[in-house]
Amino acid sequence: MKQLDYDVVVIGGGPAGMAAALKAKETGATVAIIERNDELGGILNQCIHSGFGLSYFKQELTGPEYAELFINQVAAAGIDVYLKTMVIDLTPARQVKAMNEDGMLVLAAGAIVLAMGCRERTRGAIKIPGSRPAGVLTAGLAQRYVNIENRKPGERIVILGSGDIGLIMARRLTLEGMQVLGVYELMPYANGLYRNIKNCLDDFDIPLHLSTTVTNIIGYPHLEAVEVAKVDENLAVIDETREVIDCDTLLLSIGLIPENELSQKSGVSLNSRTNGPLVDEELATDQPGIFACGNVLHVHDLVDNVTLEAEQAGTAAAVYALQQKAAAVSETGPVVNKATVAIGPGENVGYTVPTKLTIPSQKPIRILFRVRRPLDQAEVVVQAGTTILYQGKPQAFKPSVMEAVMLNPAGINGLNGSEQSITVSVREVK
Ligand SMILES: Cc1cc2nc3c(=O)[nH]c(=O)nc-3n(C[C@H](O)[C@H](O)[C@H](O)COP(=O)(O)OP(=O)(O)OC[C@H]3O[C@@H](n4cnc5c(N)ncnc54)[C@H](O)[C@@H]3O)c2cc1C
Repeated sequence: MKQLDYDVVVIGGGPAGMAAALKAKETGATVAIIERNDELGGILNQCIHSGFGLSYFKQELTGPEYAELFINQVAAAGIDVYLKTMVIDLTPARQVKAMNEDGMLVLAAGAIVLAMGCRERTRGAIKIPGSRPAGVLTAGLAQRYVNIENRKPGERIVILGSGDIGLIMARRLTLEGMQVLGVYELMPYANGLYRNIKNCLDDFDIPLHLSTTVTNIIGYPHLEAVEVAKVDENLAVIDETREVIDCDTLLLSIGLIPENELSQKSGVSLNSRTNGPLVDEELATDQPGIFACGNVLHVHDLVDNVTLEAEQAGTAAAVYALQQKAAAVSETGPVVNKATVAIGPGENVGYTVPTKLTIPSQKPIRILFRVRRPLDQAEVVVQAGTTILYQGKPQAFKPSVMEAVMLNPAGINGLNGSEQSITVSVREVK
């Protein structure tokens, strides 16, 4: 067993982990990244389409190109990278246990950054009735088959769910010569980004069927057909609309869930709305010295947002670890004597990250959130009781797009932490 000691240990070497590690290193910490795959880059390595980096790098990159820019920086920065190394345990005292071909590593960390990403929801999550044949797979797995392993999932494809991965795979499989029969979406609106509906479905004449779902999986040992049906406004199946579609592959693009097993092992409390850790404005969890960012914290739309968030987590983790090392603060962390104010979703908002703010604050605080349903004309209102802290201009909102508002320190510092909580609402403007 090998024992190691770092100021900051980053778990996961995707875009979140790499950006966090770079900022932690820049802040003066000793840093290790632990990644279970044989290369850094995370999910970006299989996303060979373009559309990454538009806001962060102001250029349109493919996933591997975006990843490469960070992989090169990590190599140049002198960050220790452990590849093919799987973290299997994490304690609240920030001891990390990991396994690789050489055996077990035990790392003691001044601070931890959780950056393990997320995984796809499978058939079991939505309980589709029917047989259990081969040919039913998640869209991300199909992406890996086609883009990395050069394998073809099937010939006649039905896609359930209009999330971005499903939309991107509809185009990808069409380009590879497969026939995508349609994308079926339970909700009355598409879940993916508008640009993906346009570029991946409309441009290839792939039909999108809203308010429609798969009600039966038919065939064994291989998929032969699926039954689809329309749903009413309560999402109940309308029997007379049932229809059988011959196909050999069903791709599921029905949502992502943060990889939260290690978060739970470390004792951090989870947000029931995001399934990721509850964090404050520094992206600190409620376990001292444990920070979270990227898709393990909440599922992001764009990698650019992941990078910005991770940079913040990496800096905060390094500051925490270095302050602890200098014995400048107690084990309970640098913010213990300040007040906290809860912040959470109000009207039409699904969740906020963070869920608590420390006051007084010296700098503007970025609040991320998503709306629960599409709104054509609405405005963001952030308020504590009757005090308006932020009011945006009317605009359209979609659940697929992650939104951000900046809160001014002057407004929040006037609040009394024990009495007030802040809500983020998106109100329709008639
Ligand atoms: C199909 C698809 C299309 C996308 N298209 C776009 C797009 O066009 N534009 C855009 O901006 N964004 C896009 N995204 C989103 C973007 O890729 C993600 O938001 C981003 O990659 C998330 O980064 P992450 O580091 O949080 O997670 P990941 O990239 O998933 O990285 C997490 C890493 O942690 C590692 N890990 C997990 N558990 C452990 C463990 N126990 N031990 C060691 N390592 C571990 C994993 O192996 C992985 O490498 C797309 C995503 C997908 C899936």
